[in-house]
Amino acid sequence: MSIKTRFAPSPTGYLHVGGARTALFSWLYARKHGGKFILRIEDTDLERSTQESVDAILEGMTWLGLEYDEGPFYQTHHFDRYKGIIQQLLDQGDAYYCYCSKEELEQLRAEQMANKEKPRYNGKCRNLVGPKDGREAVIRFKNPVDDVVTIPDLIKGDIVVANKELDDLIIARVDGTPTYNLTVVVDDMDMKVTHVIRGDDHINNTPRQMNILKALGAELPKYAHLPMILGPDGARLSKRHGAVSVMQFRDDGYLPEALLNYLVRLGWSHGDQEIFSIDEMVEHFALENVNVSASAFNTEKLLWLNHQYIMNSDPAHVARHLSWHMGELGIDPSEGPNLVDMVKAQRERCKTLVEMAAASVYFYKDFESYDEKAAKKNFTPGSDEVLARLHDEFTAVTEWQGETLHQIVVNLAETMGLGLGKVAQPLRVAVCGSAVSPAIDVTLSLLGKEKTLARIQRAINYVRNLN
Ligand code: GLU
Repeated sequence: MSIKTRFAPSPTGYLHVGGARTALFSWLYARKHGGKFILRIEDTDLERSTQESVDAILEGMTWLGLEYDEGPFYQTHHFDRYKGIIQQLLDQGDAYYCYCSKEELEQLRAEQMANKEKPRYNGKCRNLVGPKDGREAVIRFKNPVDDVVTIPDLIKGDIVVANKELDDLIIARVDGTPTYNLTVVVDDMDMKVTHVIRGDDHINNTPRQMNILKALGAELPKYAHLPMILGPDGARLSKRHGAVSVMQFRDDGYLPEALLNYLVRLGWSHGDQEIFSIDEMVEHFALENVNVSASAFNTEKLLWLNHQYIMNSDPAHVARHLSWHMGELGIDPSEGPNLVDMVKAQRERCKTLVEMAAASVYFYKDFESYDEKAAKKNFTPGSDEVLARLHDEFTAVTEWQGETLHQIVVNLAETMGLGLGKVAQPLRVAVCGSAVSPAIDVTLSLLGKEKTLARIQRAINYVRNLN
C-alpha cells in the first residue's frame, strides 16, 4: 500500500507549534514509508479564513523544510464536489433536511441540560420527506443508531464509541455550504489519504467521519491522534505562554532543525536519544512510540537544543540563517568578515542567532559609543599609551593573521611589564566597543587591519580627551 498523509490546517491564524508538530509527524510518517505528504488548506470557513494566514502557514512550512508532495489544495475549490456528495447522501437516504429552528434547538438543549442529559439533536426531522418548499433547512447526516464505532487508533489503541452517543450532525448549513466533518471526509477519500495523523482534539470527530465514510462506501484511513502540547503550567499551550508561532521562533533566533528536533521529541522518543538529524528522525520514527499523554513545552530545553545545533551544524548552513538576522538589523554582511568565519568565532557563546547577530554587528558597522562600564574600567590614564604602541606595531604587520597579532599583544604586555589583561582588554574595548568578544586574535583577524587601526585611533583620541 502506498502511504499518504496530510496536514490540513485551517487558515485562521499563524502556524503554531502544535500544528507544526502535527505536520512534522505526518511528514515523517510519509517519508519513513516512501509515501506522499500533502498539504490541504481547510478554508471553508469564509469568515475566519484569511489569505494572510494561508501565507503564514506556507511560510512556516517552507522555513521548517517540510516539503509537501501534493498541494497546497484549497477546500474552497471543491465546493461543487461537496455539493455532489451531500446530494448523494440525500439520495441514498443517509442524510435529510432538518427544519428545526434555532429557537427550537435552543429549547431542546436547555431541557436536556436541565435533565442532566448530554445536549444532542433529537432526530425530530429524521423521517420527514423533503425538501419542503420555501423553508430554510440544514442537512443532517443520518448517523446509525445501533452498534458502536471502533477507532483503531495507532497511538491510543482502540477507542470505542456507541453510535447512540453521536447525534445527527449537520453536514450543510442553511446557505448550502458544507461543514468541516463533511469536507474532511470527502477530501480524505478523494485524495486517498491512508493515514490521518492529527491532534487528539479531533477525536470526537473521528467516529462521525468514519460513519460518513462508511455511508459513502469508502475505505477507512488509519487514524493516529497526537496528544496535546501543554504550557509549563499544565494548561493547553497558548499565546500567553510566550512564543507559539513557528515564525516567532525564527524571529527569536532558532534554527528550524532545532525546532523540529524539539518538536519530534515532544511526545515521541527513541530510547534516550535527544538529538536527531532529519535523517535519523525519518529512520527511527514510529507512531507506536508516540506518548499517549500530553507533554509540556519547555523553552529551556529548546534553547539548549538550539545551541547544540548552532555549535554542531555546518557553519555555512548556520551562516545562511544568520545572514537573515543580520539583514533584520540593517547590516549588509558583505561589508565585513565572511559570515561562515563569524559563525565559527561566535557559536560557542551564542545560544540563538539573535544573540549571534547582535554580537556580530560591530564587525560590519562602527559602534556608536563604548559600553560605559567597560570604557570606565579599561580606558584609564595610561591606556592611551598601550593603545598607541599597539597601533604602531599593528601598522607594521604585513600579514594580518591571528597568531601574529596575538604575539604582538603578548610581547607588548611583557615589554611594558603589564598583565596580559591590561593590554588585551583596552584593545578589546577599543575595537568592539565592549568587553565581550571572541578571543582577541580571532576578533582582530576577522575585523581586518583597516578597521582595527581606525578603531584603536578612535580609542586613543577618546582616552586623551578624557584628561
Ligand atoms: N482543519 C482542522 C484544523 O485545523 C484539521 C482537520 C484534520 O486534521 O482533520 O484543526
